[in-house]
Amino acid sequence: MTEQPIPGGTNGVSPRSIIRTPRDVRDIAHIGHAELLTPTPEASLAYFTDLLGLTVVAAASDSVYLRGHGDYEAYCLKLTASDHAGLGHMALRTWGPAALARRVQWLKDAGIDGAWVEPDAGKGPAYEFTDPDGHNVRIYYETSKYRGIVGAEDDRPAMKSNHQRYRGRGANVRRLEHVNLMARDVRACRSFWEDGFALRTFEIIRREDGSEDGAWLSSTVQGHEVIYVRDYLEGRGRLHHLAFWVDSREDVLRTADLMNDARVPIEAGPSRHIPIQGFYLYTREPGGNRIEVCSGGYLGFDPDDEPVVWTAAEYAAKPGWGARLPSTFRSYGTPGTGAAEESVTADWPSPAGLGHARP
Ligand code: FE
Repeated sequence: MTEQPIPGGTNGVSPRSIIRTPRDVRDIAHIGHAELLTPTPEASLAYFTDLLGLTVVAAASDSVYLRGHGDYEAYCLKLTASDHAGLGHMALRTWGPAALARRVQWLKDAGIDGAWVEPDAGKGPAYEFTDPDGHNVRIYYETSKYRGIVGAEDDRPAMKSNHQRYRGRGANVRRLEHVNLMARDVRACRSFWEDGFALRTFEIIRREDGSEDGAWLSSTVQGHEVIYVRDYLEGRGRLHHLAFWVDSREDVLRTADLMNDARVPIEAGPSRHIPIQGFYLYTREPGGNRIEVCSGGYLGFDPDDEPVVWTAAEYAAKPGWGARLPSTFRSYGTPGTGAAEESVTADWPSPAGLGHARP
């Protein structure tokens, strides 16, 4: 792909002055978990357990750790009480200790600040740094596998190829599927992951000036794990959404029924995205963070593939079916910026008014 000069830089370091990680160096195995900050921890916990069907596996002072029934690791979501909504951090697991050491060395060589953090509920130690937009990121290798016993409860499945007993609770999400981050400079963030971690870019929305409105990256054949979309309000380090996987499009439709009767407003969907073609449903958990339940989408097996690049006009023409995304999809993220554009959903029920909120 012929690239135009990159506006901005990567954490103050020109991407052209640092060594690009060869594309066949696959040190990152997959996304491991995300920490979500919420100002309404009890109501948020009820959303993730009762409606999404996640299981609580551990709790600390201000945090609860939750898992999908398909997670081989102990957890995929850390829910932390905070005075604001947003992303605490996202974490990616490497293929091994040497892979972790190589990625840390790349960060150091690139002049990107970082520090080791202690193991967190069985994962880590991890190396924490920030992406070019200021989102906190951790990479780790050491982890704990889920053994199916939580407290006194036996959660073991009948088949040892599964990780947890199938309870079919709520949306019954299997795992964290992707993290979508807002960024002022999508292209710098994409280059950061390509250069430093050899993530593959599957799709890009690019304007005539070379800047990008969106980029969909992954360390696996799944078309998206780490996504960046333009922050039209020019915030910093904001979260667009976390997405959790269900096994079928029908499960997404079923989730819409669940949310509707729980009086949880549906912001978008059920419908199908243009990038990666994922089938989606978007709501907001009581703390205000946007959450997607998704299924479908394509897999990319070709090691020589090039990203699909949509011009802004091609994307705006909407070559796929389904309703257009609401305007809030471009402006709303967490934490909020206080901009007037975000107030268009101010009439939505407050977290305390949601039917699923616990007293
Ligand atoms: Fe998504």
